[in-house]
Amino acid sequence: MDLLYKSTRGSETVTASQAILKGLADDGGLFVPVTIPKLDMPLEQLAGKSYQETAYEVMKLFLTDFTEEELKNCIERAYNFKFDTEEIAPIVKADGAYFLELFHGATIAFKDMALSILPHLLTTSARKNQVENEIVILTATSGDTGKAALAGFADVPGTRIVVFYPKDGVSPIQEKQMVTQKGSNTMVVGIRGNFDDAQTGVKNMFNDKAMEQEMAAKGFQFSSANSINIGRLVPQIVYYVYAYARLLAKGEITKDEPMNVVVPTGNFGNILAAFYAKNMGLPIQKLICASNENKVLFDFFETGCYDKNREFILTSSPSMDILISSNLERLIYQTAGNDHVKNAEFMKQLTEQGSYKITDEMKQKLTDFLGGYASEEDTAKVIRSIYEAEGYVIDTHTAVAASVYRDYREQSGDAVKTVIASTASPYKFTRSVMKAVDSKYDSMSDFELVDQLSEISHVKIPNAIEEIRNAKILHDTVCDVEEMPDVVRSFLK
Ligand SMILES: *Cc1c(COP(=O)(O)O)cnc(C)c1O
Repeated sequence: MDLLYKSTRGSETVTASQAILKGLADDGGLFVPVTIPKLDMPLEQLAGKSYQETAYEVMKLFLTDFTEEELKNCIERAYNFKFDTEEIAPIVKADGAYFLELFHGATIAFKDMALSILPHLLTTSARKNQVENEIVILTATSGDTGKAALAGFADVPGTRIVVFYPKDGVSPIQEKQMVTQKGSNTMVVGIRGNFDDAQTGVKNMFNDKAMEQEMAAKGFQFSSANSINIGRLVPQIVYYVYAYARLLAKGEITKDEPMNVVVPTGNFGNILAAFYAKNMGLPIQKLICASNENKVLFDFFETGCYDKNREFILTSSPSMDILISSNLERLIYQTAGNDHVKNAEFMKQLTEQGSYKITDEMKQKLTDFLGGYASEEDTAKVIRSIYEAEGYVIDTHTAVAASVYRDYREQSGDAVKTVIASTASPYKFTRSVMKAVDSKYDSMSDFELVDQLSEISHVKIPNAIEEIRNAKILHDTVCDVEEMPDVVRSFLK
């Protein structure tokens, strides 16, 4: 029997392929599997598998209405030469932890792990459900999702993609990566506002029934590539299983030995995937949620109160500058006993008052999670310190996690082996990284810094960076949040 997916805000139930196609449920809820499947292959056996084989073993349990051939085909088209290493997600031992490098794909950030497969999952889902409309991906990005989605969807037949980013809220390299995107089915738009404004604008279009009908009449339908799509979440579970299996294979851990994970968190997608992996039976002990100075989640895990009413801070880890962590809704729903009525009530409070407080009973179910945060100063300090001690250079997002882990280890004395999700290449945030290493780099241009980084880290400059050095700017639209629907209409003329 197929594993079905249910809305976190109502009783709507769909198959996996329908959930992937829809992105959001009609009631505005997120789709969750009605039960989280258990791993059906022993971890010792998974220890001998490639990334692609592991992906199949994990994903087949969630996407049960895909045939073996369909799923393997999606996996093959995603995890191939687009990654610069056959391991896909290599592990580097440094600073008393294991850095799981999730940035070896086309756009050198962890979003590639899911966004390189999502277009294939989506077009396969469309075929399976006799969808004839062209699929239009609408995405709000705080930087990395945008480029990774553009790279994944560019020139995929039957799809178009529109990406909105906060005009002054992404790094220069992130912006250049996006506005130079090729592909006649792509559009990139800067908005006057922050990431949450962009995300709200996109959500409003998804919930706009009149716009939906207008689009259907022209042969289009919207879908989401944001991390709320189950087609993003499921591929992210894979690398936690893979990491554990690789550590087993290398003899770094023994059978059934627990591991902690530390995840630099924004929208709560990556760490939720780790939580699902734990629910599947992976021996994860602590799930450490690392925030930057926008520490809504840290406060939430401390107090049980989620409160977005606060100043929005621009930090050196822009992909985590988020005040509404959309994927947290899936955890709230599960913690409320899979009760969509209770969950919908919390989400209503979030929309209307900007905050909600979970019950003590719910809070007690969250003891596997631990929140931590790093200031801008902590973040820079840990980059410099790991570089000076071991010559290993990490990016600002990963550094937030590394700093939180150092604090945690010191305070708890917990010696459990720990995997840190390393979410971006330092080349993506070169200026902040080099500034952290030494102030003498402050006066250099972005690409001079790239060359300097290569010299000090002995890591080859990734293709993703070389490509944009001289690339032409192909997208220059900037608009207000209210204008977003009209921008989409003009693109779909
Ligand atoms: C998106 C992103 C994050 C945050 O991941 P979430 O799944 O949104 O929590 C962290 N680091 C980098 C580099 C990212 O691109």
